[in-house]
Amino acid sequence: RLTVDAGLLMDALLVWTLASLSGGARSPALWLLPATTLATTLAISPRTGLKAGLLAALVVVGLQAAEGAESPVTLETARWLGIIALVVGTAAAFSAVNERELRRRGDRLSVLHRATEGFVGAAGPDELREVARRGAEGLLPGWRVEILDGGATEVETGRDADGVRVSVPAVARPGDGDEPRALARIVARRPAAPGRPVRLRRSRLLAVRTLAASYAAALERLELVRRLEHLSTADPLTGLGNRRAFDEALAVELARARRTGAPATLVMIDLDRFKRLNDRHGHAAGDRALVGVAEVLAAHARTEDRACRVGGEEFALVLSGADARAGREVAERIRRAVAARRLPTGRLTVSIGVAASDGWSDPGRLVATADRRLYAAKKAGRNRTVWTDGP
Ligand code: GH3
Ligand code: MG
Ligand code: MG
Repeated sequence: RLTVDAGLLMDALLVWTLASLSGGARSPALWLLPATTLATTLAISPRTGLKAGLLAALVVVGLQAAEGAESPVTLETARWLGIIALVVGTAAAFSAVNERELRRRGDRLSVLHRATEGFVGAAGPDELREVARRGAEGLLPGWRVEILDGGATEVETGRDADGVRVSVPAVARPGDGDEPRALARIVARRPAAPGRPVRLRRSRLLAVRTLAASYAAALERLELVRRLEHLSTADPLTGLGNRRAFDEALAVELARARRTGAPATLVMIDLDRFKRLNDRHGHAAGDRALVGVAEVLAAHARTEDRACRVGGEEFALVLSGADARAGREVAERIRRAVAARRLPTGRLTVSIGVAASDGWSDPGRLVATADRRLYAAKKAGRNRTVWTDGP
């Protein structure tokens, strides 16, 4: 600051000297005063420009005084002061506009920054939607913002009964040969007199589009995680859980049982003489039978239970909070429901082994117990449920 101030003083002295040598208060060198004032205002700041303007005024008044004018403020002085004030004022107004625009951009950037952080941290679609809504409200003060599903893949502007409306889509990155697809859209409305055109500055629209692009990326990521989760735990033939889902469900259920003291029960189901059905009617008929049994299982499972296909023709049901007795009842209902179905391939039955956790929590032990009882059911003639190891 000291350097700048010293520079301003040097300038003023230089102009003073030049003017003194070339005609005093009427010297054309005085035009240097508004010129340096303008340069200072634009290049440094309006405040420094004001300082330069004051020094310039002092130079003019000083020159007048040195020439012995009876009053230093003559018409000539006033003319110069007017020119300098005009220059400082105009330059200051320009830089204020620039500053306001810069501040707006800074504000927009921090809104986008916060939104990006929000998108990364959000746990589900509702949180994402809320982050997008708050972001759009930050970018469009005075507009009413809504996040809607789907819609057009282009930005749309228009008006409806009570104002203007802008819709910015969050578009998924299209895969090979896919059409672009709007996952959601940011819709902003503002009341406006009829006939007035929809006005949204390009820079502001660009910011909303950037927000929409981040939102789309976050939605896509969530969708992808969901799909992968489903793919890694679902059995493609029956839609039930697969072996991995079963292992997970059993571990979770046993941990819960140990924590709360509530029982957990495992029901293992194996189709009877399934090889024969396959051999007689073909693999496709066998698959249909498997799907049929899966439907019976799903129909008998409560939402907190987990039905899985753990092997070729072997199913498991993890019953949450059910003791051995409840497990036995569910197993019997399932067994009877399967046997009661009339299939074009003839009667199909299942054998079932049931094991309850009874306080201990080793998944391997529970599976071995249920398996042993399932084997006992086979040995005892099939189409039956075994829930104890005794005779
Ligand atoms: P058991 O009553 O003793 O259980 O006799 P089973 O014939 O059911 O038992 P086994 O284990 O000998 O045969 C299982 C058969 O299940 C073998 C295979 O043909 C059939 N299988 C396994 N996975 C699939 C599948 O995904 N689709 C079809 N259609 N059949 C399958
Ligand atoms: Mg088997
Ligand atoms: Mg079998």
